[in-house]
Amino acid sequence: MPLFSVPKEVAVGTAMLGVAFATGMLAGKRYPSLVFGTPKSSKSIIGKSGPLWQYILDHSLREHPILKKLRLLTADHPWSKMMVSCDQAQLMANLVKLIKAKKVLEIGVFTGYNTLNMALVLPDNGRVIACDINEDYVKIGKPLWKEAGVEHKIDLRIKPAIQTLDELLASGEAETFDFAFIDADKESCNEYYEKCLRLIKKGGIIAIDNVLWSGRVLKPRKDDLTTQSIHHLNEKLLRDARVNISMLPMGDGVTLAFKL
Ligand code: SAM
Ligand code: CA
Repeated sequence: MPLFSVPKEVAVGTAMLGVAFATGMLAGKRYPSLVFGTPKSSKSIIGKSGPLWQYILDHSLREHPILKKLRLLTADHPWSKMMVSCDQAQLMANLVKLIKAKKVLEIGVFTGYNTLNMALVLPDNGRVIACDINEDYVKIGKPLWKEAGVEHKIDLRIKPAIQTLDELLASGEAETFDFAFIDADKESCNEYYEKCLRLIKKGGIIAIDNVLWSGRVLKPRKDDLTTQSIHHLNEKLLRDARVNISMLPMGDGVTLAFKL
């Protein structure tokens, strides 16, 4: 038995590719096979299928038991594909620890997997400002924040994230945050990025999720404003002298922007 079995929701990036998972995976399969494309080929932009992907998780994933509980709980949700992939969350937790972050932003909480993930690695006086508009999603994960003993580190703001970011700026919190994860409505990603850049300290990190958008960024259609928005931010980031960047083919693509 692997130390960490891999249920369907691990493949958020793959799911975002429009992949439907084969039925029966919950009955024992560690990882679902793909039902479109050639099952054993790496049809996805990130090649997250098959035994090698399983191997990566078996040999790298160190998931807190309550985090795992939340992941499995979220897996039953009709929108489970929105949850960040566990390998990506682990990278973000490692970055948060590495830079000794105290104040972090989560823009788009959903059931709070990454909110919990970051809260778990923050010091006791650390804070996650968690932004979402949908309290029903957040309610699913909230009891597990408490169970993990990190509820006091999470400051949940249920309102449009732009409003929360503006309030933080207005209350003099510019350049006080260490890390931000941008993962809400993609049409606003540029605005989120600009506001986060003001809120983050020099040396802080902004992680922008879904930058590959299931591959649609390769050929953004004129009428697809979501893809256009992601693509424009990707183009802008390439030339943005305020940050150093890395675009990683993890999940549905994540860009790390390191503030200079
Ligand atoms: N980061 C989450 C995780 O770790 O699993 C996943 C976030 S999910 C992809 C996107 C979330 O953004 C949803 O919960 C949605 O309610 C929220 N959202 C959408 N529009 C928003 C807005 N204008 N302001 C704040 N949150 C928003
Ligand atoms: Ca996402």
